[in-house]
Amino acid sequence: MEKLENINFKNSFGTLSEDFYTKQGWSPLPKAKLVSFNYDLAKELGLETINPGYLIKIFNGEVSVPNSEPLAMAYAGHQFGNWVPQLGDGRGILFGQIKTANGLKDLHIKGAGKTPYSRFGDGRAVLRSSIREYLCGEAMHGLKIPSSRSLIIFTGEEPVFRETTEPGAMIVRTASTHIRFGNFEYLCHNGKQNLLPELIDHVIEEYFPEYVELENKNELFFEAVVKKTAELIAAWQSVGFAHGVMNTDNMSILGETFDFGPFGFLENYQPDYICNHSDYQGRYSFNNQPNIGLWNCQALASALSPLINETQLKKSLENYQLYFYNHFIHLFRGKLGLIKKDHKDFELIEETLNFLKQEKLDYTNFFRNLNGFIFGDKKFSLQEKLRKRFEFEEISQDKHEEIVKANNPKFILRNYLAQVAIEKAEKGDFSEVNKLLEILKNPFLDHKGLDDYAKESPEWGKNLEISCSS
Ligand code: AMP
Ligand code: MG
Repeated sequence: MEKLENINFKNSFGTLSEDFYTKQGWSPLPKAKLVSFNYDLAKELGLETINPGYLIKIFNGEVSVPNSEPLAMAYAGHQFGNWVPQLGDGRGILFGQIKTANGLKDLHIKGAGKTPYSRFGDGRAVLRSSIREYLCGEAMHGLKIPSSRSLIIFTGEEPVFRETTEPGAMIVRTASTHIRFGNFEYLCHNGKQNLLPELIDHVIEEYFPEYVELENKNELFFEAVVKKTAELIAAWQSVGFAHGVMNTDNMSILGETFDFGPFGFLENYQPDYICNHSDYQGRYSFNNQPNIGLWNCQALASALSPLINETQLKKSLENYQLYFYNHFIHLFRGKLGLIKKDHKDFELIEETLNFLKQEKLDYTNFFRNLNGFIFGDKKFSLQEKLRKRFEFEEISQDKHEEIVKANNPKFILRNYLAQVAIEKAEKGDFSEVNKLLEILKNPFLDHKGLDDYAKESPEWGKNLEISCSS
């Protein structure tokens, strides 16, 4: 077994000024019990030789780990467009970072108990929302979309009070960083502008080392955030993912999907879909996500204005749309099984989406079976247009089918699938969580005997009201 002493945990965030965080330990869940262990991720982190039972002891705070310096981060943010000056890790602990082949990864424990940023909360997370976050991080990763993921999920015998009493849980979340737009906003709008250079220098050193020596490093950093954000949201749109709570405190500065709450994947193509039932005005509707991505970048620009001149900030913000559409069109060409570029592709994509909306078709399954639609019995003019566009590619139908299958998942985390797994888990049976994890890791593959998991949701599951409490 790998000795913990040999694992090089560090917490570089903890080397910054004390205004950025509170160093503290956390509160174990009594009688912690494994729900699921993400072995593939453990391997990437070099933790696969440590027994999951022992990992629980570590991340439940029962044994202390040399060189770890746990802390709760301070941040602020715009929630539903409103400024909230003080947020922060109210139930999370940044345990530290670990070096991997894909760069540094943060380990963050969610559901870890109270911190100075808990406000009125209990510092805990329920098993239900933890399972959703655990599964969706892996689903996004499987879909090749940048995302936080989770290494392990465990529950414990401490009831948590939400609308009803529910079992509590912790997840150990990994992300390239836990620094959010809201960390910069926190400094800028709370009279701590003098600390902005320290944070931006830290971020550039850790995550953009290629900019360190450059005079315009701050400008380049902001440009990179705008690009990563625009491309992330284009990717969300391409798989029909609605985040639900795109507050600036849930936006990673490295453009990773972050903080899974009442998210949902489109079932029938419905562009005005609102997955968050507390979002009465549809601010975070599926359709609105690209605009909100830009709004959030504007909020970050405002927080960076003491460091970067206005002309430069505006220039980067103006590029948002370009970054978004370039990536959007690129991804949709793949979905349509196309490689070549044609200047009318955007029109064709729009027409396809309008068709889906009109016919109320299942978004995922329509694209997955696109080859069959194009070459099947002709009923719609769209088929003819797509066939004509296919002919321009000069590839075989088989090759087209191959491209379509490689770019359109068979499996997504439909709400009802998560719900079934949650209800079993709440009764102590974690098999469905583990089964879904395996399917969602490889959503582009046919999983033998599991075709039911790719079917449209049953009627009862289509309009599930997902509680926002977590
Ligand atoms: P979220 O909606 O999960 O992004 O959380 C927004 C803010 O509320 C963050 O500062 C969280 O740390 C905090 N928060 C959410 N739930 C709890 C809780 N149960 N206890 C303490 N703080 C919480
Ligand atoms: Mg959050």
